[in-house]
Amino acid sequence: MNYIDRVIKEVRSRNACEPEFLQSVEEVFHSIEPVLEKHPEFEESGILERIVEPERTISFRVAWVDDNDKVRVNRGYRTQFNSTIGPYKGGLRFHPSVYIGIIKFLGFEQTYKNALTGLPIGGGKGGSDFDPKGKSDGEIMRFCQSFMTELYRHIGPNVDVPAGDIGVGSREIGYLYGQFKRIKNQFQPAVLTGKGLNYGGSLVRKEATGYGLIYFMKEMLNHHDITLENKTVVISGSGNVAIYACEKAQKFGAKIIAMSDSKGYIIDNEGVNLDTIKQLKEIERRRISEYVNYHPHAEYHENQQGLWSVKCDIALPCAAENDINIDSAKKIVANGTLAVGEGANMPCTNEAIDYFLENNILLAPAKAANAGGVATSALEMSQNSMRLHWSFEEVNRRLNEIMINIFEITKEAAQEYNLEGNYVAGANIAGFLRVANAMSDQGII
Ligand code: NDP
Repeated sequence: MNYIDRVIKEVRSRNACEPEFLQSVEEVFHSIEPVLEKHPEFEESGILERIVEPERTISFRVAWVDDNDKVRVNRGYRTQFNSTIGPYKGGLRFHPSVYIGIIKFLGFEQTYKNALTGLPIGGGKGGSDFDPKGKSDGEIMRFCQSFMTELYRHIGPNVDVPAGDIGVGSREIGYLYGQFKRIKNQFQPAVLTGKGLNYGGSLVRKEATGYGLIYFMKEMLNHHDITLENKTVVISGSGNVAIYACEKAQKFGAKIIAMSDSKGYIIDNEGVNLDTIKQLKEIERRRISEYVNYHPHAEYHENQQGLWSVKCDIALPCAAENDINIDSAKKIVANGTLAVGEGANMPCTNEAIDYFLENNILLAPAKAANAGGVATSALEMSQNSMRLHWSFEEVNRRLNEIMINIFEITKEAAQEYNLEGNYVAGANIAGFLRVANAMSDQGII
């Protein structure tokens, strides 16, 4: 049995109840086989055995009182996966599906994504099985305060810097930061990113993941002599990543014809009206089904299963993990889609990824394509440290440069290992090499 298979077998037996984590490990490890052949020293120093084990994982009780004076208890997590190239950095997810396997898969992915940005940030992730849906503002605030009352002792600008993810936006970051400041009696904005603009937040952070996804796509398509202009696009989700991917893709002349939320999807062949989506989803926190009340020519379909049957040139999964399985991948290929861009983390199953690659679909992998959010978080940390506030244009310019650079690194890593055009392998190899080389330099820890 070779080194990779041996370690995967061990990971399976030690983390048997964490399928998402296993999936993310297998995806990375299958890409790096040629790297390990070229670098036997990684096996000698046990890099793989070490890289799959989080440096630290914290699980804690989050008790809070709801609006009916009932005591509620949720579970909070933070996994500090890898600090080799910088302080742990990664978002917090509040969603009922959260358990340790989800947090570990996200922390593992984050480690390589952060490495690809070229910035000094390690990998971490956290969250809770708390469901913000249907909760009042007061309940959200009390939950966030209780969550931070435990988390504060594990984080800091040079230790671990959380941000948002599903269910955690600027409102939640505000409540979390307020509680951190109250406990510590220190104004330390670089402890969290995604903050409001009035207290240390960065312009473009809100837009960064979606914009970054489109900057990466544009670069990848250009490399294959394709432009975004007049291309039809289907986007899953209508949250932070989906909305700003839609905005930037429209700016580059693409036509978004379908979007979804966790209950269903809309098709608007005239092109989705983003103002309506923002009003419904970002401001009023309502359902996407209501879109057709404002645009009666559009269609609404219950459930998301049919979304990937909608014929388009470009598919952008921007909702949740494992959104595109092998059946959806077959439909996407059969419809003549040119490219898939992963805005969400691990939105395609490993089977779907293999199918796309076998069928020459241009696949922009999440670790590279959605790294714009964390990269801009790192820019927010830099502004906080320097006590400066860059303009929208300045941050946007840096974000664009970072995304172009990530594409270059990804492309070159694939070329170096004779895997030209396989950007999944390119991103995994480039991210892995940066972390593994730095780990080698730092000894067996
Ligand atoms: P949001 O909470 O803002 O939006 C999530 C969207 O996806 C909502 O439209 C939601 O529907 C939908 N959704 C959530 N779960 C499911 C599900 N199980 N099935 C179908 N739809 C679902 O999250 P973000 O936009 O921030 O994050 C989306 C993805 O992007 C996640 O994978 C996240 O990890 C990843 N990501 C986010 C970054 C960021 O900066 N925000 C950075 C990098 C990656 P509904 O409205 O009904 O809840």
